[in-house]
Amino acid sequence: MEPYEMTAWEARDALLRGEMSALELTRAVQERIEEVEGRVRAYVTLTLEEALRAAREADDRMRRGQDPGGVAGLPMAVKDVLCTRGVRTTCASRMLRDYVPVYDATVISRLRDQGLTMIGKANMDEFAMGSSTENSFFQVTRNPWDLERVPGGSSGGSAAAVAAGEALWALGSDTGGSIRQPASFCGLVGLKPTYGLVSRYGLVAFASSLDQVGPITRDVRDCALLLSLIAGHDHRDSTSLKVEIPDYQAGLGGGVRGMRMGVPVELMGEGLAPGVRSRMEESFRLLEGLGAELEETSLPSLEYALSAYYIIAPAEASSNLARFDGVRYGYRAEGAEDVLQMYGRTRAAGFGPEVKRRIMLGTYALSAGYYEAYYGQAQKVRTLIIEDFRKAFSRYDILLSPTSPTVAFRVGEKTADPLSMYLSDVCTIPVNLAGIPAMSIPCGLDEGMPVGLQMMAPPLQEARLLQAAHALEQALGRRFTAILNGEGGGR
Ligand code: GLN
Repeated sequence: MEPYEMTAWEARDALLRGEMSALELTRAVQERIEEVEGRVRAYVTLTLEEALRAAREADDRMRRGQDPGGVAGLPMAVKDVLCTRGVRTTCASRMLRDYVPVYDATVISRLRDQGLTMIGKANMDEFAMGSSTENSFFQVTRNPWDLERVPGGSSGGSAAAVAAGEALWALGSDTGGSIRQPASFCGLVGLKPTYGLVSRYGLVAFASSLDQVGPITRDVRDCALLLSLIAGHDHRDSTSLKVEIPDYQAGLGGGVRGMRMGVPVELMGEGLAPGVRSRMEESFRLLEGLGAELEETSLPSLEYALSAYYIIAPAEASSNLARFDGVRYGYRAEGAEDVLQMYGRTRAAGFGPEVKRRIMLGTYALSAGYYEAYYGQAQKVRTLIIEDFRKAFSRYDILLSPTSPTVAFRVGEKTADPLSMYLSDVCTIPVNLAGIPAMSIPCGLDEGMPVGLQMMAPPLQEARLLQAAHALEQALGRRFTAILNGEGGGR
């Protein structure tokens, strides 16, 4: 196995045993980037020098017998929506093309304390709006399993980097599925934490009541490791929860015997690709074989989740993105005669078409006369969804569904039809509306492309989620994670 193919925990063990140095590992990833990045195009900005510096520091510490920190020397991709001090943070938008933050997001400063070895800022859909990474101002990222296909989105650069061996693991953000869906499309593990578990300070806001930061990794253990380092209270985020963070790795071996699992029929209905359905059914049998009790169930309000999301998320976005007006930071259009013209021209040229669509949808939904009919209704639906999940979790420990109704689609296949693009997140969106945690775990192939199974749990039950995901992963073997260890093409 090449060093860049390892999981982060395998690489960490190898570093601590002195079998390789952090510098060697980082150089191996750097060479891999030189080899494949021209085709995959996962990164907006590479930070190789910073990574090599961090790797040397990790080696120095280990040589002196010190603990180098939990992520030291383990090259990580960071979605370009997280502020990184001194490194430009673009949100894949023309608006922020040259924006260099003067501070680190809390997740970044926490990881810096643990020896963060950031290899680059990963491409994404502009301001995290999209499901394919085709909405980037800079470039379209390709799926390493099949370069004709999308890596998913909006954290598509993060997922593609990990699947292609251009990073060992990554950070993404998830407002309606943007961690889980690209993880699913690229054969990786992705976790959207409970709302409030991970700080949003320094995460450029899309829809503040839905956004969460989380890991995209090659296996469940890496996911547990990274989550335990980024989770926890932050006084800089007013929605951050004050809770004890358990040792997520400790319970991984616990299995699923006796766990009650529900399968919402609403997420297994029409539009589900036959191959995805087959992989789901195989995984369900496997979980039963491991001692879980599975049952079909119904959460009737889920039918309205997508519609509610496409009111609430754009409404919040229209307000959050009002700050990009050319005054304080970011792009400013030249040659305007007065301030109104300057705002108008800046926003017309600085935002791409999908972002403009969301701003217009959101502004409309919030406007006088329509507020109750749209935004008010959507909030009521959101309450019903929360209620439905609460009831379901009184009977089940975990809920199961596909992560996405199909495998990765082809580049350009859905760009002309926003609605079909929106439908790609039909299974992931309810989770954000309810604020609960969920994961995507690779569970097989369809059309030669990875399929992801979604597991959902009650608020703050990430440990249970990781435990169940680990059991499934062990039963399946890691045959479907990343092209590097799997049977995927693209190399
Ligand atoms: N695809 C969804 C959207 O475009 C979700 C994006 C996300 O989770 N950031 O809104």
